[in-house]
Amino acid sequence: MHLFPLFTDLKDRTVLVIGAGPVADRKIHLLLAAGARVIVGAHAAHPQVQARAQAGDIELRLAPFDPAWLDEAWLVIAATNDTQLNRTIADAATARRLFCNVVDDAALSSAQVPAIVDRAPITIAISSGGSAPVIARRLRERIESLFDPALGALAALAQRKRLSIRQARPELRARRDFYDWLLDGPVLSALRRSRPDEAAAALDQALAQATQAPVGKVLLVGAGPGDPGLLTLRGLRALNEADVILADRLVSPEVLALARRDAQVIDVGKTLGGPHETTQARIHALMVSHARQGRCVVRLKGGDPLVFGRGGEELQHLKRHGIAYEVVPGITAALACGAYAGIPLTHRDHAQSLTLATAHRRARTAPASGDDAADGQTRVYYMGVNRLSVLRSQLLEDGLAPDTPCALVENGSRPEQRTLFATLDTLEAAAAEHRVQSPALVLVGEVTALGTELAWFGQTKHADAVPETAALQASA
Ligand code: SAH
Repeated sequence: MHLFPLFTDLKDRTVLVIGAGPVADRKIHLLLAAGARVIVGAHAAHPQVQARAQAGDIELRLAPFDPAWLDEAWLVIAATNDTQLNRTIADAATARRLFCNVVDDAALSSAQVPAIVDRAPITIAISSGGSAPVIARRLRERIESLFDPALGALAALAQRKRLSIRQARPELRARRDFYDWLLDGPVLSALRRSRPDEAAAALDQALAQATQAPVGKVLLVGAGPGDPGLLTLRGLRALNEADVILADRLVSPEVLALARRDAQVIDVGKTLGGPHETTQARIHALMVSHARQGRCVVRLKGGDPLVFGRGGEELQHLKRHGIAYEVVPGITAALACGAYAGIPLTHRDHAQSLTLATAHRRARTAPASGDDAADGQTRVYYMGVNRLSVLRSQLLEDGLAPDTPCALVENGSRPEQRTLFATLDTLEAAAAEHRVQSPALVLVGEVTALGTELAWFGQTKHADAVPETAALQASA
C-alpha cells in the first residue's frame, strides 16, 4: 500500500490554506464542513473567499506566504497556481513535520485529499494514490449511486441506539442479524420517507422482540421509457434491493439487466394471455403474497408508475391489505418522447399548456379556441396508435384545424426510435404507410413542427404533405 488511509478530526483545529482562488475555495468549503478553523493566506482573494472572510467563517491574510503561519496549523493545503511557491510551502511543512497537500500535485504532497461519498456519519473515501484522479472520481459516481442518501440518517440512529442494541442482542450473531435487518428493513424505509419518528419506533419495537421478523414491502418503480440511462438512481437501488420483480411488458430488457442477479423476475405483461382484469388481479395477488413472505417486491412499470399504469389501483390494493410500499417515479413516455424527438412540450411562442391523455377512452381535452390550431396547447395521447381515426375526428370536433402539426413517436428513447411528422389530416395514412406500432405516442400541436428542425435521435419520417413550418420558423 502506497498511501495510508486516515480520517482526521479537524474540528476546531487550524488548517492553513495558501491560495484563494476557486480551487482553494472548494477545499475551504470541505474544511469548514468538517469544523476546521481555516486560515487563508494569499496575495489576492476570489470574491467567494472574500465573502467567507467577511462572514467571519475564515481568517484571510492578504500577504505573501510566511512560513511562521505554519506554527499554528495541523495541516497545510497549498492551492496556488505557482509551482515554485507550492514547493516552498511543501518544503516548509516537511521541515516542521506537518502534512501538506498540494492540490493536483501528488509528487509534492505528503497527504492527499480523496474523492468522497458523504453519508455522514458514514464517509467513503476513494484514492488512486494520485495516479488517476479521474478514475477515482468515476468510481465515486458509481458508489454514490449505490448507497441510499438515507444511509447517513440510519447510521446516526444506530449510533444513538447503540447501547440498547447491545443490551437487547448481547450475542454477536444476533446483533449482526439485527444490523442486517436495519440496513434492509422498515427503519431505512421510514427514514427514506422522511419519517424519523416512525423509524425510531420500528427500531424500538424490533428490539423488544426476541428476533426481528423480516418485513416485506412493495416498491412501485417507474422504469422509464426504455433507455436504461433514464432510470433514476433510486430506481436502480430498488432493483438492487429486490427479491422479486414483477415486470410489465413495456420494461426494456436493458433495465431488467440492471437488477440483482438472484432476484426472481416474473413477467406480468398484459399480453401474456387472459383478459386484463385477470392479469391485474394476478398482479395484486402476487404483490401481496410475496410481500407477506417478507420479500422486497419491486413492481416495475414502463415510464412512470402513476401515469396510465394502473399504479394507483395497485397502491390502493396494498393499502387495503396493510402492505408497506414506496413509490419511485419514472420518466413518463411524454417527457421522454418530447426530449428524444426534439419536441419541446411547451414553448413560449407555441404552447402554454400540456395535456397528457389516453386515446383509449374519450379524452376530454380542452376544446380549441376556434379559428386556428394555435390554441397554445400541446396534447399527448398514450395508447393511441390503433385509434388514430377516432382521435382525428374528436380533435376536429373540438375545433382543431386539419393542418394542425402532429407527431408519432414509436419506441421513444430506444435505439429503434422512429418519429413521424404529419398533420391531423395526414397522420393516419402516414402511420399505416410506415407501419407504426405500439408502443407509440401521439403528439398534437404547433410544437411538434419544431421537431422537424430539432430532432436529434433515431430516424425521422415525414408524411407526404409536410406541415407548413415556415410560419413557425419565422416566429421561433
Ligand atoms: N406508465 C407509462 C404509460 C403506460 S401506457 C408511462 O408513464 O409512460 C402505455 C402507452 O405508453 C403506450 O401505448 C404508448 O402510447 C406509451 N409509451 C410507453 N413507452 C413508450 C415509448 N418508449 N415510446 C413511445 N410511447 C411509449
